[in-house]
Amino acid sequence: MPSDPERLIDRALDLPNAVWRLQGAKPAWTRCLLLAFRYTAMSDEKREGLLWLGFNQGTGAVMDGDLLGRLRALLASVVQWRVPEPDIRQAAGAAWGATTLAARVAPLVDHRVRLDLKPFLNAMRRRLDRDRGRIHEYHNDLRRTAQMKLAALGSTPGEKTAAERNRETMRIAAIEREYAAKLDDLRHNYALRASVDWIQGLVLFAPVHRYDVLIKRRKGERVIHIDWHPAIRMIEPPPCDWGLGDGRARLVCDDRLHLTDVSGQAPCQSCGKAWCRACHSAACPRCGSVA
Ligand SMILES: [Zn+2]
Ligand SMILES: [Zn+2]
Repeated sequence: MPSDPERLIDRALDLPNAVWRLQGAKPAWTRCLLLAFRYTAMSDEKREGLLWLGFNQGTGAVMDGDLLGRLRALLASVVQWRVPEPDIRQAAGAAWGATTLAARVAPLVDHRVRLDLKPFLNAMRRRLDRDRGRIHEYHNDLRRTAQMKLAALGSTPGEKTAAERNRETMRIAAIEREYAAKLDDLRHNYALRASVDWIQGLVLFAPVHRYDVLIKRRKGERVIHIDWHPAIRMIEPPPCDWGLGDGRARLVCDDRLHLTDVSGQAPCQSCGKAWCRACHSAACPRCGSVA
Protein backbone atom coordinates (compact mmCIF):
# COMPACT_ATOMS: atom_id res chain seq x y z
CA MET A 1 0.00 0.00 0.00
CA PRO A 2 1.40 3.45 -0.88
CA SER A 3 2.92 5.17 2.14
CA ASP A 4 2.16 8.73 1.07
CA PRO A 5 -1.30 8.76 -0.54
CA GLU A 6 -1.56 12.57 -0.67
CA ARG A 7 1.54 12.74 -2.82
CA LEU A 8 0.38 9.82 -4.95
CA ILE A 9 -2.96 11.51 -5.67
CA ASP A 10 -1.27 14.83 -6.29
CA ARG A 11 0.70 13.14 -9.05
CA ALA A 12 -2.48 11.66 -10.55
CA LEU A 13 -4.85 14.62 -10.25
CA ASP A 14 -4.55 18.21 -11.38
CA LEU A 15 -7.54 20.50 -10.80
CA PRO A 16 -6.80 23.99 -12.12
CA ASN A 17 -10.17 25.43 -11.00
CA ALA A 18 -10.97 23.44 -7.84
CA VAL A 19 -9.40 22.02 -4.69
CA TRP A 20 -9.38 18.48 -3.36
CA ARG A 21 -8.89 16.75 -0.05
CA LEU A 22 -8.25 13.10 0.67
CA GLN A 23 -11.17 11.88 2.74
CA GLY A 24 -10.61 8.19 3.11
CA ALA A 25 -8.87 5.09 1.84
CA LYS A 26 -9.85 1.47 1.96
CA PRO A 27 -9.31 -1.83 0.16
CA ALA A 28 -12.07 -2.55 -2.35
CA TRP A 29 -13.01 -4.67 -5.35
CA THR A 30 -13.62 -3.06 -8.65
CA ARG A 31 -14.93 -4.05 -12.06
CA CYS A 32 -12.66 -3.32 -15.00
CA LEU A 33 -13.66 -3.75 -18.59
CA LEU A 34 -11.00 -4.35 -21.24
CA LEU A 35 -12.08 -4.16 -24.87
CA ALA A 36 -10.24 -5.00 -28.06
CA PHE A 37 -11.10 -3.52 -31.45
CA ARG A 38 -9.88 -4.29 -34.92
CA TYR A 39 -9.85 -1.50 -37.47
CA THR A 40 -9.44 -1.61 -41.22
CA ALA A 41 -8.70 1.41 -43.36
CA MET A 42 -8.85 1.19 -47.14
CA SER A 43 -7.85 3.69 -49.74
CA ASP A 44 -5.35 2.96 -52.51
CA GLU A 45 -3.71 0.74 -49.85
CA LYS A 46 -5.00 -1.17 -46.88
CA ARG A 47 -4.08 -0.86 -43.23
CA GLU A 48 -5.30 -2.99 -40.33
CA GLY A 49 -4.67 -2.69 -36.65
CA LEU A 50 -5.74 -3.78 -33.22
CA LEU A 51 -6.36 -1.54 -30.26
CA TRP A 52 -7.22 -2.06 -26.63
CA LEU A 53 -9.21 0.18 -24.33
CA GLY A 54 -9.94 -0.21 -20.67
CA PHE A 55 -12.30 1.32 -18.14
CA ASN A 56 -12.59 1.01 -14.42
CA GLN A 57 -16.35 0.92 -14.05
CA GLY A 58 -16.08 1.35 -10.30
CA THR A 59 -14.47 4.79 -10.58
CA GLY A 60 -15.19 5.88 -14.16
CA ALA A 61 -11.49 6.12 -15.02
CA VAL A 62 -10.10 5.31 -18.44
CA MET A 63 -7.36 2.70 -18.31
CA ASP A 64 -4.98 3.50 -21.10
CA GLY A 65 -1.32 3.84 -22.00
CA ASP A 66 1.19 2.48 -19.55
CA LEU A 67 -1.46 1.42 -17.03
CA LEU A 68 -3.30 -0.74 -19.55
CA GLY A 69 -0.04 -2.04 -20.99
CA ARG A 70 1.20 -3.24 -17.63
CA LEU A 71 -2.16 -4.74 -16.74
CA ARG A 72 -2.35 -6.67 -20.01
CA ALA A 73 1.24 -7.86 -19.62
CA LEU A 74 0.41 -9.09 -16.14
CA LEU A 75 -2.74 -10.85 -17.33
CA ALA A 76 -0.75 -12.57 -20.06
CA SER A 77 1.87 -13.87 -17.66
CA VAL A 78 1.91 -14.82 -14.02
CA VAL A 79 -1.62 -14.14 -12.92
CA GLN A 80 -3.77 -16.93 -11.61
CA TRP A 81 -7.27 -16.85 -13.06
CA ARG A 82 -10.20 -17.43 -10.75
CA VAL A 83 -13.93 -17.30 -11.28
CA PRO A 84 -15.31 -14.25 -9.45
CA GLU A 85 -17.30 -15.15 -6.39
CA PRO A 86 -20.78 -13.70 -5.95
CA ASP A 87 -19.81 -11.44 -3.05
CA ILE A 88 -16.90 -10.02 -5.06
CA ARG A 89 -19.21 -9.28 -7.98
CA GLN A 90 -21.57 -7.63 -5.56
CA ALA A 91 -18.83 -5.57 -3.93
CA ALA A 92 -17.47 -4.44 -7.29
CA GLY A 93 -20.80 -2.83 -8.17
CA ALA A 94 -22.94 -2.90 -11.26
CA ALA A 95 -21.69 -2.84 -14.84
CA TRP A 96 -22.36 0.22 -16.97
CA GLY A 97 -25.48 0.21 -19.07
CA ALA A 98 -25.25 0.08 -22.84
CA THR A 99 -25.86 3.84 -23.20
CA THR A 100 -23.07 4.83 -20.81
CA LEU A 101 -20.72 2.32 -22.35
CA ALA A 102 -21.41 3.51 -25.90
CA ALA A 103 -20.99 7.15 -24.86
CA ARG A 104 -17.61 6.40 -23.28
CA VAL A 105 -16.28 3.98 -25.89
CA ALA A 106 -17.19 5.81 -29.12
CA PRO A 107 -15.07 8.98 -28.72
CA LEU A 108 -12.10 7.02 -27.39
CA VAL A 109 -12.13 4.49 -30.23
CA ASP A 110 -12.48 7.30 -32.74
CA HIS A 111 -9.56 9.21 -31.24
CA ARG A 112 -7.30 6.17 -30.97
CA VAL A 113 -8.01 4.90 -34.49
CA ARG A 114 -7.25 8.34 -35.93
CA LEU A 115 -4.03 8.46 -33.94
CA ASP A 116 -2.97 4.98 -35.12
CA LEU A 117 -3.82 5.81 -38.72
CA LYS A 118 -1.99 9.12 -38.81
CA PRO A 119 1.23 7.84 -40.44
CA PHE A 120 -0.85 5.83 -42.93
CA LEU A 121 -2.94 8.92 -43.79
CA ASN A 122 0.13 11.10 -44.12
CA ALA A 123 1.75 8.64 -46.52
CA MET A 124 -1.50 8.46 -48.48
CA ARG A 125 -1.69 12.25 -48.68
CA ARG A 126 1.88 12.37 -50.00
CA ARG A 127 1.05 9.87 -52.76
CA LEU A 128 -2.11 11.82 -53.59
CA ASP A 129 -0.17 15.11 -53.81
CA ARG A 130 2.46 13.50 -55.99
CA ASP A 131 -0.12 12.03 -58.40
CA ARG A 132 -2.08 15.27 -58.49
CA GLY A 133 1.08 17.20 -59.30
CA ARG A 134 1.95 14.83 -62.10
CA ILE A 135 -1.51 15.01 -63.66
CA HIS A 136 -1.52 18.78 -63.40
CA GLU A 137 1.87 19.11 -65.02
CA TYR A 138 0.96 16.82 -67.91
CA HIS A 139 -2.31 18.55 -68.77
CA ASN A 140 -0.90 21.97 -68.22
CA ASP A 141 1.81 21.30 -70.82
CA LEU A 142 -0.72 20.01 -73.34
CA ARG A 143 -2.96 22.99 -72.83
CA ARG A 144 -0.12 25.48 -73.06
CA THR A 145 0.99 23.99 -76.39
CA ALA A 146 -2.54 24.20 -77.79
CA GLN A 147 -2.92 27.77 -76.55
CA MET A 148 0.33 28.78 -78.20
CA LYS A 149 -0.83 27.31 -81.50
CA LEU A 150 -4.10 29.16 -81.16
CA ALA A 151 -2.30 32.42 -80.45
CA ALA A 152 -0.02 31.89 -83.44
CA LEU A 153 -3.05 31.59 -85.72
CA GLY A 154 -4.07 35.04 -84.56
CA SER A 155 -7.06 36.58 -86.29
CA THR A 156 -5.86 35.87 -89.81
CA PRO A 157 -8.94 35.69 -92.06
CA GLY A 158 -9.60 32.68 -94.24
CA GLU A 159 -11.51 29.45 -94.05
CA LYS A 160 -8.46 27.29 -93.40
CA THR A 161 -7.21 29.22 -90.34
CA ALA A 162 -10.78 29.45 -88.99
CA ALA A 163 -10.98 25.65 -89.10
CA GLU A 164 -7.58 25.35 -87.38
CA ARG A 165 -8.65 27.85 -84.69
CA ASN A 166 -11.75 25.83 -84.15
CA ARG A 167 -9.75 22.62 -83.84
CA GLU A 168 -7.34 24.10 -81.27
CA THR A 169 -10.22 25.55 -79.24
CA MET A 170 -11.86 22.15 -79.14
CA ARG A 171 -8.57 20.52 -78.23
CA ILE A 172 -8.20 22.86 -75.24
CA ALA A 173 -11.74 22.05 -74.06
CA ALA A 174 -11.01 18.32 -74.39
CA ILE A 175 -7.78 18.66 -72.37
CA GLU A 176 -9.68 20.47 -69.61
CA ARG A 177 -12.36 17.79 -69.55
CA GLU A 178 -9.77 15.05 -69.35
CA TYR A 179 -7.97 16.85 -66.54
CA ALA A 180 -11.20 17.07 -64.51
CA ALA A 181 -11.94 13.38 -65.15
CA LYS A 182 -8.43 12.37 -64.02
CA LEU A 183 -8.88 14.36 -60.80
CA ASP A 184 -12.18 12.55 -60.24
CA ASP A 185 -10.42 9.20 -60.67
CA LEU A 186 -7.82 10.27 -58.11
CA ARG A 187 -10.49 11.26 -55.60
CA HIS A 188 -12.08 7.88 -56.10
CA ASN A 189 -8.79 5.97 -55.76
CA TYR A 190 -7.77 7.75 -52.61
CA ALA A 191 -11.16 7.88 -50.89
CA LEU A 192 -10.72 6.48 -47.40
CA ARG A 193 -13.09 3.95 -45.92
CA ALA A 194 -12.50 2.82 -42.35
CA SER A 195 -14.34 0.28 -40.26
CA VAL A 196 -13.93 -0.69 -36.63
CA ASP A 197 -15.11 -3.98 -35.14
CA TRP A 198 -15.30 -4.93 -31.52
CA ILE A 199 -13.64 -8.33 -31.25
CA GLN A 200 -13.03 -9.11 -27.61
CA GLY A 201 -14.11 -8.05 -24.15
CA LEU A 202 -12.85 -9.02 -20.73
CA VAL A 203 -14.49 -8.21 -17.41
CA LEU A 204 -11.94 -8.20 -14.66
CA PHE A 205 -12.73 -8.11 -10.95
CA ALA A 206 -9.65 -6.66 -9.36
CA PRO A 207 -8.64 -5.86 -5.80
CA VAL A 208 -7.73 -2.19 -5.48
CA HIS A 209 -6.91 0.37 -2.88
CA ARG A 210 -9.62 3.00 -3.19
CA TYR A 211 -9.18 6.66 -2.32
CA ASP A 212 -12.18 8.86 -1.60
CA VAL A 213 -11.33 12.35 -2.73
CA LEU A 214 -13.50 15.35 -1.88
CA ILE A 215 -13.63 17.93 -4.67
CA LYS A 216 -14.62 21.51 -3.84
CA ARG A 217 -15.53 24.15 -6.40
CA ARG A 218 -17.11 27.41 -5.17
CA LYS A 219 -20.02 26.35 -2.94
CA GLY A 220 -20.27 22.84 -4.30
CA GLU A 221 -18.58 19.61 -3.32
CA ARG A 222 -18.49 16.07 -4.55
CA VAL A 223 -16.64 12.85 -3.70
CA ILE A 224 -14.83 10.93 -6.41
CA HIS A 225 -12.89 7.68 -6.23
CA ILE A 226 -9.42 7.01 -7.53
CA ASP A 227 -8.07 3.46 -7.41
CA TRP A 228 -4.53 2.32 -6.87
CA HIS A 229 -3.92 -1.09 -8.44
CA PRO A 230 -1.60 -3.16 -6.21
CA ALA A 231 -1.05 -5.83 -8.90
CA ILE A 232 0.75 -3.32 -11.11
CA ARG A 233 1.55 -0.77 -8.39
CA MET A 234 -0.01 2.09 -10.31
CA ILE A 235 -2.64 4.71 -9.69
CA GLU A 236 -5.29 5.45 -12.29
CA PRO A 237 -5.94 8.78 -13.96
CA PRO A 238 -8.86 10.64 -12.36
CA PRO A 239 -12.38 9.86 -13.59
CA CYS A 240 -13.78 11.90 -16.42
CA ASP A 241 -17.41 12.78 -17.12
CA TRP A 242 -16.70 14.14 -20.58
CA GLY A 243 -13.77 13.82 -22.97
CA LEU A 244 -11.08 11.26 -23.57
CA GLY A 245 -10.11 10.98 -19.91
CA ASP A 246 -6.38 10.66 -20.35
CA GLY A 247 -3.81 12.78 -18.57
CA ARG A 248 -4.26 14.20 -15.09
CA ALA A 249 -5.88 17.61 -15.70
CA ARG A 250 -9.61 18.00 -15.15
CA LEU A 251 -11.77 21.07 -15.02
CA VAL A 252 -14.69 21.06 -12.61
CA CYS A 253 -18.03 22.51 -13.69
CA ASP A 254 -19.94 24.99 -11.54
CA ASP A 255 -23.37 23.40 -11.60
CA ARG A 256 -22.88 19.70 -11.01
CA LEU A 257 -19.13 19.47 -10.40
CA HIS A 258 -18.51 17.29 -13.43
CA LEU A 259 -14.90 16.48 -14.11
CA THR A 260 -14.08 16.99 -17.77
CA ASP A 261 -11.12 17.31 -20.06
CA VAL A 262 -10.06 20.94 -20.41
CA SER A 263 -11.92 21.16 -23.73
CA GLY A 264 -15.11 20.11 -21.93
CA GLN A 265 -15.46 23.59 -20.38
CA ALA A 266 -14.28 25.57 -23.40
CA PRO A 267 -16.05 28.78 -24.45
CA CYS A 268 -18.78 28.54 -27.08
CA GLN A 269 -17.41 29.34 -30.52
CA SER A 270 -20.28 31.63 -31.41
CA CYS A 271 -21.24 33.46 -28.18
CA GLY A 272 -18.11 33.00 -26.07
CA LYS A 273 -19.81 31.60 -22.97
CA ALA A 274 -17.88 28.78 -21.30
CA TRP A 275 -20.13 25.81 -20.75
CA CYS A 276 -19.94 22.25 -19.45
CA ARG A 277 -20.21 19.58 -22.16
CA ALA A 278 -21.19 16.99 -19.54
CA CYS A 279 -24.19 19.14 -18.42
CA HIS A 280 -25.27 20.13 -21.94
CA SER A 281 -23.81 17.68 -24.41
CA ALA A 282 -25.55 18.77 -27.59
CA ALA A 283 -25.49 22.56 -27.76
CA CYS A 284 -24.49 25.76 -26.01
CA PRO A 285 -27.12 26.50 -23.30
CA ARG A 286 -27.01 30.26 -24.02
CA CYS A 287 -27.14 30.54 -27.81
CA GLY A 288 -28.00 27.01 -28.90
CA SER A 289 -25.04 26.75 -31.25
CA VAL A 290 -23.77 23.22 -31.75
CA ALA A 291 -20.03 23.09 -31.14
ZN1 LIG B 1 -23.10 29.96 -27.30
ZN1 LIG C 1 -21.33 19.86 -15.75
